[in-house]
Amino acid sequence: MTIDQKVRKTLDELGIADAPGVEAAFAEVRAAMQAERAALIARGAASESEREKLCKDLRDRWLARKNGLLSAVDEKWLKAARKELKPSVGKSFNNLRQESAALEIAALARDVPLRKQAEANGGIPAGGSPPMAAQMYRETPSDLTLPGNRRALGTLHPVTQMQREIEEIFLNLGFHIESGPEIESVYYNFDALNIPESHPSRDDWDTLYIDSKTVLRTHTSPVQIRAMEKYGAPLHIIIPGKCYRRDNPDASHSPMFHQIEGLAIASDITFADLKGTLDFFAKRLFGQKIRTRFQPSFFPFTEPSGEVSISCIFCGGEGCRVCKESGWIEVMGCGMVHPQVLRNGGVDPEKFSGWAFGLGVDRFAMLKYDINDIQLFFQSDVRFLEQF
Ligand SMILES: [Zn+2]
Repeated sequence: MTIDQKVRKTLDELGIADAPGVEAAFAEVRAAMQAERAALIARGAASESEREKLCKDLRDRWLARKNGLLSAVDEKWLKAARKELKPSVGKSFNNLRQESAALEIAALARDVPLRKQAEANGGIPAGGSPPMAAQMYRETPSDLTLPGNRRALGTLHPVTQMQREIEEIFLNLGFHIESGPEIESVYYNFDALNIPESHPSRDDWDTLYIDSKTVLRTHTSPVQIRAMEKYGAPLHIIIPGKCYRRDNPDASHSPMFHQIEGLAIASDITFADLKGTLDFFAKRLFGQKIRTRFQPSFFPFTEPSGEVSISCIFCGGEGCRVCKESGWIEVMGCGMVHPQVLRNGGVDPEKFSGWAFGLGVDRFAMLKYDINDIQLFFQSDVRFLEQF
């Protein structure tokens, strides 16, 4: 039965007796209406006058007061509906009437292309209201050989870029990348690294505790112990990863930040190897003119311990705002691995020695890109991120 025949029978005659049946019948009418509209748009018109005629014909077929398909629906389906079906028929008919506005001549003419224009546009008519346009694209045969829509790709986050650059240098030196859990036990995060109960870094004010035995790791150093347990010695690894501390966010602090830690264990390894490696690293990263400076410091897990500064990359060592007129910027902590830490990792300190260093990736990225606020990295502002 064609749609023309259907709308000229009552619902009773069509055997429709419930609301789902009504809905299905109206869906069929709506589909026919949309298909005819789409077919006209796909066909196009050869001239303005032909377009006007085609649009008027389609409009009249559906919307003419006398003999239009919608009038038939009104007459046969709505007015003749049984009482209990009236509400659902009325609702569906209202919806249909609203959608039929797309069949008014002006709405049709806007979307039906003149054939010359259609060819110039690659067969896709310009304009059209968004919902109808979407409908139209679905039903117009597409040219599958047309190139796809290119999506703009983002870039790697500046911290990720920095991390990869640092990793690359150490990978070329023969180091491997190792990772470990961010939710860490107090043992690996503190005890195994020779950090005693009394140490201030274990305080509630510095560390995010999950429970008394579990923390969000405050540094990447626990992976040193895990790697020693797993691989033994000799060992050359770098450990990039996220760390957490109870710092209030400000221009230089963030409760979440990124570290890279390095660990080298071998027989007869000395502080000279450490200095040579870190000097090479600094020159690779910031340029051959960079000088490094080692100063004594203290960390519980290294002995002796040092802090590494590089000559200021902004002023070349003459003194400026960034280096606070000193000519040097402190960038890393380092030292010879404490014998007890080697023992805790199952490595015999009589046979092996090792060195380790740790640096803040965010801080390196801030230096490299001259960024003065660490918060910018984590605010996901596209205007900031798209600069990298
Ligand atoms: Zn400077």
